[in-house]
Amino acid sequence: LDRTAAALAEDGGGTLARRGSAIELDAVLLESVGAIRKDVATATDLEQLKHEVSMRVEAIGTALDSFREREERLLAVSEAAARTLSERVEVLRAQTGAAEALLVEQRRLALTDPLTQLPNREALNGQLSREEERYRRYGRPLSLAVCDIDRFKAVNDRYGHATGDAVLREVAACLRESLRETDFVARFGGEEFVILLPETAPEQAAGALDTVRMAVAARRVECRGAAPLSVTVSFGVACFGEGDDAERVFIRADAALYQAKGAGRDRVIVFGEDAASPG
Ligand code: GH3
Ligand code: MG
Ligand code: MG
Repeated sequence: LDRTAAALAEDGGGTLARRGSAIELDAVLLESVGAIRKDVATATDLEQLKHEVSMRVEAIGTALDSFREREERLLAVSEAAARTLSERVEVLRAQTGAAEALLVEQRRLALTDPLTQLPNREALNGQLSREEERYRRYGRPLSLAVCDIDRFKAVNDRYGHATGDAVLREVAACLRESLRETDFVARFGGEEFVILLPETAPEQAAGALDTVRMAVAARRVECRGAAPLSVTVSFGVACFGEGDDAERVFIRADAALYQAKGAGRDRVIVFGEDAASPG
């Protein structure tokens, strides 16, 4: 910025100097023309007049030469200042772009779970309030599911934490791949995920999640020194109803999940509906 200000000052200074030299030239011309007029008016001797006029014309020529020289010098200074300015503008533009990109990346990181790369709880909260708002306004069907890995503690205990982490990543990928682009999948914490299914009534949500459930069960996770392992997941589903808020829907989905665990795990239960056996 200092350099930008200096370039601006230099350019401003150049403009002032140029105006100064134009005024100077004007003065010389005016004075010379006046003097010639006077010489002509008062001359008595032609030789004398010729001599005087040629001296004045000489002076005018000298003034013009020095004016042109100064003009060129000042123009060069102005051009250099303009170049410096546009270089600075380019640098600033690049810096602004980089700062913006950094901000976008930091924002993404703040909303992403580092292990699974899914949106985190913070991101879920934002999405929940947006969907809740949409539900209030348009009343379109909106289902919420809580998903929990079955007996995950045993995986950690038997195979170690690193394998547990690998399982979490696999389950996350499986959820993301098996659901629609418009469904929102977040890691809620630990081995729990929350899924928002817009435009989806609970029966349809249950159908979609059952497909996900089977995809997870069919998935094999490679782990060192042991046969590939698999896990199952349980889902509790609830949907938004008249005058509902996200917290209440969440509590119902969680209750349904609890029911699914009690009924033997590896299943999807919709709140308020009878527990069905997995297909
Ligand atoms: P249930 O079928 O009833 O859900 O049993 P569970 O063992 O899955 O449930 P519990 O809540 O007892 O255990 C959850 C385990 O998840 C305990 C914890 O060590 C593990 N866990 C939570 N977060 C992480 C993580 O980031 N990485 C790994 N490896 N394990 C995690
Ligand atoms: Mg749990
Ligand atoms: Mg669990």
